[in-house]
Amino acid sequence: MQVIDTPNDILRYSREIKGQHKRIGLVPTMGALHAGHMALVEQSLQENDFTIASLFVNPLQFNSEEDLKAYPRDLHTDLSMLEKAGVDFVYAPSENSMYETTPMVSVDFGPLGVRMEGAYRPGHFKGVGVVVSKLFHHCEPDVAYFGLKDLQQFLLIRKMAHDLSFPVKVVGHPIIREASGLAMSSRNQRLSSQGLVISANLYKGLLIAKSTWDNKGAPNETKIAVNDFYKGIDGLEIEYFHIVEPETLIDVESNNHQSVAFCVAGYVEGIRLIDNLYLRQD
Ligand code: AMP
Repeated sequence: MQVIDTPNDILRYSREIKGQHKRIGLVPTMGALHAGHMALVEQSLQENDFTIASLFVNPLQFNSEEDLKAYPRDLHTDLSMLEKAGVDFVYAPSENSMYETTPMVSVDFGPLGVRMEGAYRPGHFKGVGVVVSKLFHHCEPDVAYFGLKDLQQFLLIRKMAHDLSFPVKVVGHPIIREASGLAMSSRNQRLSSQGLVISANLYKGLLIAKSTWDNKGAPNETKIAVNDFYKGIDGLEIEYFHIVEPETLIDVESNNHQSVAFCVAGYVEGIRLIDNLYLRQD
């Protein structure tokens, strides 16, 4: 496994590989890796000749200095996990080599970018758009893997690649959960054992949404049942719970949709957590 820290070096390797007509998969991450990240890595390893995993805590996508500072970092463990998995390249640029100058240009994701996470984390997706565009240019992957844990991010990046003609296929990977149902997240490391128990209720609420929905409950009925459940959990502060049409993220008004996503964001012990349940009828 080679660890590369500059855009020029990773691009040189990537072009060499492309010259041999081999496929490259990219898995962008902010490190502090867990089994959720590693599932994306495994998929890339299976589907491509070469896999690049990137490790970069992107300051542009944090809307609080405190959150950025507190974000878990463990390069040593990350590298050993990626090496063990059989990753070919780790791209871990410094902040200076990623942002030699502060970007003035960003991506406007249109209506998709202002709902849910976009509404509560102003500027977040602009930062995501900039860093992912740069990673795509630095690594020139054939395929890039994103987790459905960040459903809105996945949709935005897929739309960006399509609308701005990035020659990259954007693939979404299902959410990997703890045995408790809690969606794995680097931020979970910051929770106490009691906090972890409280956080597992986020998913329980989504399961209540599913069963209410499956029983043909109207969206409002489902929202009331879920919000009542969340209100009864001490230590859990919900920011939003939305029932949306998964491609457009528009709130659904009736129960006759083919596909639907239940999306939740909330705080436990001051840590912001998100989760969703995507019911897809293909
Ligand atoms: P992050 O390091 O949090 O930016 O995540 C890097 C990538 O891993 C993103 O595409 C996430 O959506 C994905 N990811 C994070 N947690 C999970 C999870 N529990 N299951 C599936 N994918 C995940």
